[in-house]
Amino acid sequence: MSTRRYLGVDLGATNTKMVVLTIPDGAEPVIESVGSVPTRGDAGHEAVLTRMIDVFNERHEQDGPFIALGMGTPGLFDSDGVVEIFTNLPGQWRGVPLQSILDNGLAMPATLINDARAFTLAEGRIGAGRGADIVVCMTLGTGIGGGIMMNGDLFWGATGRAGEIAHQTVCPDGPQCGCGNFGCAEAMARSDRLAANAGRRTVKEVFDGVAEGDERCAAAVESAGKYLGIAIANAITFLGPHRVVIGGGIAAAGDAIFDPIKRSVYEHVTLVDHDLIDIRPALLGSEAGAVGAALAAADRVPG
Ligand SMILES: [Zn+2]
Repeated sequence: MSTRRYLGVDLGATNTKMVVLTIPDGAEPVIESVGSVPTRGDAGHEAVLTRMIDVFNERHEQDGPFIALGMGTPGLFDSDGVVEIFTNLPGQWRGVPLQSILDNGLAMPATLINDARAFTLAEGRIGAGRGADIVVCMTLGTGIGGGIMMNGDLFWGATGRAGEIAHQTVCPDGPQCGCGNFGCAEAMARSDRLAANAGRRTVKEVFDGVAEGDERCAAAVESAGKYLGIAIANAITFLGPHRVVIGGGIAAAGDAIFDPIKRSVYEHVTLVDHDLIDIRPALLGSEAGAVGAALAAADRVPG
């Protein structure tokens, strides 16, 4: 029996996660190791990419060989791998030919994937979505990502953009979103909006406030849950998923955020029996994006 090994990385604003994923023939993928290196995003795209390529090649030499590398990135790129939008990373990333920079510098083939799609691929196949045919995923954090998995594969739609669950309009009079639209679920419930609505500096402080009975914190969380719930309710009504998986930093608050989301979902889903609604927390933790990137690389370069 042969075993294939892949390096999965998730380029984050602060840290870049790295996992080694082993795929034995005819068996489930195994997460062999996890780690992370500082991204040092402030240095700008050239310095970040030069350093990261060195780190990845070093890993390939010392711990490889890997069949391919998958890279989850916080944004969108065109079909040639040229960056269109990179959120939450400082500097001028727009227009950077990321795929060709990786192809020129890396000692192994590289596959790019949006980080939320990578999260969806990982959770859908080997995490909380495992065993379900149609899975809708949402990852709550600095931004809010999403994805759709159908029968084990990501669903991209005709546009390649299907699955942007948090860029549905849920409040037409709401503030402008980073995508340009007004009142997206992301604009209503991203972590900085939640903290600002609660009058706290961080999301952790908001949930501490909720635990202490602070009314403004509770109202801010209820509001975030309401708008996220509307986005999920729309997905349930329109798509009919077997399961909805929610992960990311804010989801770590557990029932404090899941309960308001579920209340809103039940309020807004009228055409589906509520017993058929299956909303679960993600299982793979903060490495899900890197795991999904490795899975994407394995799909593209089977070995
Ligand atoms: Zn948006």
